[in-house]
Amino acid sequence: MPDTQTLYIDGQWQAAADGATREIHCPANGELVASVSEAGRADVDGAVAAARRAFDSGDWPGTPAAERGDVLLKVAAGLRAAKDEFAHAESLDTGKRLVESEIDMDDIANCFDYFGKLAGQDAGRLVDAGSADVVSRIVHEPVGVCALITPWNYPLLQAAWKVAPALAAGNTFILKPSELTPHTAVLLMSLLENCGVPAGVANLVLGAGAEAGAPMTEHPDVDMVSFTGGFETGRHISSAAALSVKNVALELGGKNPNVVFADADFDAAIDNALNAAFVHSGQVCSAGARLVVEKSLHDKFVDELVRRAKMIRLGGPFDPRAETGPLISAAHREKVSAYVQRGIQEGAVLRCGGEAPSGDLENGFYYLPTVLDDVKQGMSVVVDEGFGPVVTVETFDDEDDAVRIANDTKYGLAAGVWTQDAGKSQRVAGRLRHGTVWINDFHPYLPQAEWGGYGQSGIGRELGPTGLDEYQEAKHIYHNLRPAVTGWFEDGGDQ
Ligand code: NAD
Repeated sequence: MPDTQTLYIDGQWQAAADGATREIHCPANGELVASVSEAGRADVDGAVAAARRAFDSGDWPGTPAAERGDVLLKVAAGLRAAKDEFAHAESLDTGKRLVESEIDMDDIANCFDYFGKLAGQDAGRLVDAGSADVVSRIVHEPVGVCALITPWNYPLLQAAWKVAPALAAGNTFILKPSELTPHTAVLLMSLLENCGVPAGVANLVLGAGAEAGAPMTEHPDVDMVSFTGGFETGRHISSAAALSVKNVALELGGKNPNVVFADADFDAAIDNALNAAFVHSGQVCSAGARLVVEKSLHDKFVDELVRRAKMIRLGGPFDPRAETGPLISAAHREKVSAYVQRGIQEGAVLRCGGEAPSGDLENGFYYLPTVLDDVKQGMSVVVDEGFGPVVTVETFDDEDDAVRIANDTKYGLAAGVWTQDAGKSQRVAGRLRHGTVWINDFHPYLPQAEWGGYGQSGIGRELGPTGLDEYQEAKHIYHNLRPAVTGWFEDGGDQ
């Protein structure tokens, strides 16, 4: 980790203007990882000014898109070459298992590859103006200066989903990762610099939401805010950005149903229900935290789920036996614990977990995998996102009932459907109001496939061709090849 000169503004590594710093601790054991600069409004102003200058100079937006794409391909290669360093850093900040961080780094490299190849493929389109004397075409241009604000659960992945398309489209940006997990963003900036991204195009500010994030969303020189994080923060950002009518893209939370029919492949459905709910200790926006199981299968399925959940081994990032890691912070563990207690008070039946483990994990922010059975729609644990290793269990009678329950959420990010009846799986998938539906699987996503939410899970899409469109304006150029007098207003001569 570099020293505390960890803000990257206009191609320069620098400390915060007021000298403020923040200590980063590993959630697995509380050990100090690093001390980084903590930006405030003055640093944000400097970063926005640099991004504005770089954009307005026209150099990066005017670079042929295929050349910008080549830079992204270099970034992908650089990431693969430095995968160990990046994955190690990510695991120290988040506490997640090293093997998971390694998978993330592969996915991130694939994301840069995808947008690197997509850049330059778009030649706009011709529009039939209905006249042989007119050439009408649509061209795509970068939006301008983008504020990219990201959370702590998949720090570099969430940043990459924004940075790669923003650069591919010719924008300049200021990235603000979560104040809890800044490490890999710092490494990424060095890599971008080494791969030829010019000064001022990519800027990094580290700091807290109110002090470093909010000034970005309010800044008159920022054209677009792309945010991934919690629902409440998203609402706040949306209204701040509305004051200057910025483009806004929001990737917010989820309360994702995993629908299991009685005719599902039992072993695969159990294994994936565990994965859906407990991978990264449930700190996943698309976690399958709502198990919705057919009534006739309930007892057998939930008994087995609980038996297996009790066996999950918790441990730090570098413990080869660990199957999942800690929560991000003590404060977050308290939130998860209060959420579970509220559910129990409302009538949920605690089948396992519901507390922190005892013993040698005491220095980390661990919480046991938790199953809350017999929950009812309307309970807070069914309505609200928990963002911890907690799965609730609801039952349904038939296909219509399953769809009704699965759609009964203000969110709409992702859902799973388990059945061996192909027709039923497609019918249900078609009726679910969620941005991603997995049939007989949970969690996979592809850089070439759009990701995002219905309802209050967000606005817009990341990844896929739409993920690039988010960072572009469409311009209509109408060319009259035979200019003529319209005669709309009468020419009254000299009178
Ligand atoms: P958060 O909303 O607390 O913070 C996210 C980011 O916003 C951080 O960088 C934070 O500093 C910043 N921020 C906070 N207040 C701000 C403000 N007023 N103005 C500007 N920026 C501000 O979220 P979190 O706790 O870091 O992440 C967890 C949340 O992220 C969960 O709700 C999860 O579902 C969501 N998430 C969604 C997706 C998705 O793809 N939809 C992916 C990952 C995480």
